[in-house]
Amino acid sequence: MKTITSYIGGQWQPAGSHLLPIVNPATEEVVAQLSEADASETAAAVAAAQASWKSGAWARLGAADKRRVFHRISELTLQHLDELAQLECLNSGLPLHYLRHRQLPRIVRNFDFFADWLSQNVEKAGVSDQDYLRFVLREPAGVAALISPWNAPLALASTKIAAALAFGNSCVVKTAETTPLAVARFMDILAEAGVPPGVVNMVNGRGHVTGDALVRHPAVRVVSFTGGTQTGRAIAAAAAPGLKRVDLELGGKSANIVTETANLDDALDGALTAIYTNNGQQCFAGSRILVQRSIADAFIARFVQRARAIRVGDPLDTRNELGPLSNAAHYARVCSFVDAALQEGGTLLCGGQRPAGVGGKGYYLEPTAVLMPHNRARVCQEEIFGPFAAFQVFDGFDEAIAIANDSEFGLVSYLWSNDLAQAQRAAREIEAGVVLVNTPMVLDLRFPFGGYKASGVGREGIDGMRHFYTEEKTVTLALKRPAMARLGAYAD
Ligand code: NAD
Repeated sequence: MKTITSYIGGQWQPAGSHLLPIVNPATEEVVAQLSEADASETAAAVAAAQASWKSGAWARLGAADKRRVFHRISELTLQHLDELAQLECLNSGLPLHYLRHRQLPRIVRNFDFFADWLSQNVEKAGVSDQDYLRFVLREPAGVAALISPWNAPLALASTKIAAALAFGNSCVVKTAETTPLAVARFMDILAEAGVPPGVVNMVNGRGHVTGDALVRHPAVRVVSFTGGTQTGRAIAAAAAPGLKRVDLELGGKSANIVTETANLDDALDGALTAIYTNNGQQCFAGSRILVQRSIADAFIARFVQRARAIRVGDPLDTRNELGPLSNAAHYARVCSFVDAALQEGGTLLCGGQRPAGVGGKGYYLEPTAVLMPHNRARVCQEEIFGPFAAFQVFDGFDEAIAIANDSEFGLVSYLWSNDLAQAQRAAREIEAGVVLVNTPMVLDLRFPFGGYKASGVGREGIDGMRHFYTEEKTVTLALKRPAMARLGAYAD
């Protein structure tokens, strides 16, 4: 059976003594195992990253050479897209068709984006007050810890890798301990594309063991984290004594507001996409669907009809639109919210069961929707992170905005409306890092992505990433003799 070990200085390490199973969530079979990196192996990975950074082999490589490597990464990813999609599907349960055609091609776009950016970007210098030539030298932060979750393992880890490398850093990657297969394969692709040894390293293991050791290591300067809000808090606390910069991309409980002026066909497609794509496991899921009373019954009826028709099953079967949840513990948690909704006065609209026809194995749940009488219910406040929609009905637009903002989270918000004034109000009044009007999520690295409130700190997007992954150094050159005090020159 394949064992995923640490990848340090361009070498896969021998397996250690602590092994964890890697499970296919569609069959519950153990398909590989993972060798957990302890603190000393994690330190070795950081040391390799630091040595490569100090050597300048990557950091000081010219923009044209970096750009060539990035394009090569894109080419190789494209060549291996089928293999990567198969591995990701086997390990995460995400539908193969979606991985192959939607999620993983984004990796190619991301590396191409940074390659183009590298060839275009120059820092500006400026003269201040005719006295000084001043410019900012932007230097890599150094060693970056890149910690990512299991809901889109390779897409999320590779975005962080692309950004860290674009700004000249070396890094140590830690993806979720349950889903390392495609990310591990990507390490070989990076090496083949010409990323020098030690620039990208990978350690594996549980968060409180490997992840914590990585965050605390003194040579790690910045920590980019995507995952749950509680974990984000723990990471921020662990990073604080070392005064490390953290970027935290955390959970969400995004409102999806459907008003009576909306194009309801579009709103329906958008609402289904926002909650059931990626097996419902997406940070920007539109998990609270707020529908205006005048259209609520008809809209909900159509939603339920479509949700029931979603094809759930083996993610390798390219006809299936929804696969299993990612792991056993998560599955049990998501399922527990059905009872939680009923206990708080909710009505089960559809789903809530294991689908017929998937057999006895695999962490499958029917696309589920409940109607809730108020927003304080747990299913309206807690991130469920599964194919689980909570509907609420509102009367006026003020109420819709108030419900949208009545959340500890603030990642994304969706509005379906043809009323321009409503769109403008949503843009101004909703407390979320991303507001989408008449569209599902659009990812674009030219624009910031990140959360308000408990959804995070920092932004992924070119400006935020540039700030995060670099140190700025202001250099000042005098153009003429500056006015200076002449201490000691006046002694008599
Ligand atoms: P998680 O927080 O449990 O784990 C994420 C990663 O952190 C894993 O690699 C884990 O091993 C590691 N980790 C856990 N404890 C740690 C610690 N103490 N120190 C260092 N590392 C630690 O998250 P998850 O359950 O794997 O992922 C789901 C969550 O991720 C959801 O809340 C989702 O909303 C969020 N998410 C957010 C975004 C975003 O961009 N905002 C994107 C995707 C997922």
